[in-house]
Amino acid sequence: MVVPQLESILRRQGYYLIGNHSAVKVCYWTKEMLVNRRPCYKSTFYGIRSHRCIQMTPAVDHCTFSCLHCWRFQGFTNVSFEEDPDDPDFIVEESIKGQRALLSGYKGDPRVPKELFEEAYNPGHVAISLTGEPTLYPRLPELVRAYHRRGFTTFVVTNGSVPETIERLINEEEPTQLYISITAPNEELHRKINVPRIKDSWSRVNRSLELMSTMKARRTIRVTVIKGLNMNDKYIEEYAKLLEKADPDFIEVKAYMYMGYSRYRLKPENSPKHFEVKEFASKLANAMEYIVASEREDSRVVLLTKPERERRVNRFLELE
Ligand code: SF4
Repeated sequence: MVVPQLESILRRQGYYLIGNHSAVKVCYWTKEMLVNRRPCYKSTFYGIRSHRCIQMTPAVDHCTFSCLHCWRFQGFTNVSFEEDPDDPDFIVEESIKGQRALLSGYKGDPRVPKELFEEAYNPGHVAISLTGEPTLYPRLPELVRAYHRRGFTTFVVTNGSVPETIERLINEEEPTQLYISITAPNEELHRKINVPRIKDSWSRVNRSLELMSTMKARRTIRVTVIKGLNMNDKYIEEYAKLLEKADPDFIEVKAYMYMGYSRYRLKPENSPKHFEVKEFASKLANAMEYIVASEREDSRVVLLTKPERERRVNRFLELE
């Protein structure tokens, strides 16, 4: 159960809370697409239709890390689920209801074409990320399946600290695309940047990367680069070795953005410029025999892939 203090902060920030531990919040890019026809970079990279995307979490108050670069409110009270977790079908239905309620203000907005609003009102993709660590939710494979049954494509974004759930996703229901978010090339930096709240977290992340290599789903690693912390050329070889464990289809090298609550822990100069991200990404690509496949300057992100997988870039997930 979300504690009242956290609940009031989240509600003030526009979260729609569901049951005991889930939430939806309309993504900035969903609104940008509706109002200015500007989709998120995952539209450029993977064909996501940002206005039809639900951004949700089944673990709003649960996380295993307290990362320095996290821009969400870190009022996490749990690292495990002790009570009976909520039913996945209930969460799916409520997330659609929540998204509709949060978008209702755009109906009749002169900046939003009617057809676009109607498409947004019938979402077709879900990003299971938002805040908290979704792999802590013990019924995650069922949640993914429940979205698939309703015709949704799914992203699961994880920090990799719960390999047991990754294994269950592989055995029970894989998401359309799994993301593992990485910010450290080695254990020392992992402790410093991710500030783990559980034991053996580094070996757990490594285990998740290994498991990822066995997935049929699209595999993406996001490397968030923080200038002055994890972005030095001396780490390229370590990153390459670590990432190769997952045999990712895609690697996103993305700038840390100086925003939200991360501003209490980091400085503006920790946020690299796009050209710096590109330089670093190119070096990583060379070390791994990947190629630079795409980029989005406004999000300061560069996409790498294996040459033989380039044809998958910017394809609608539905076409896979
Ligand atoms: S994929 Fe991510 S960034 Fe894009 S619209 Fe969905 S939640 Fe937002």
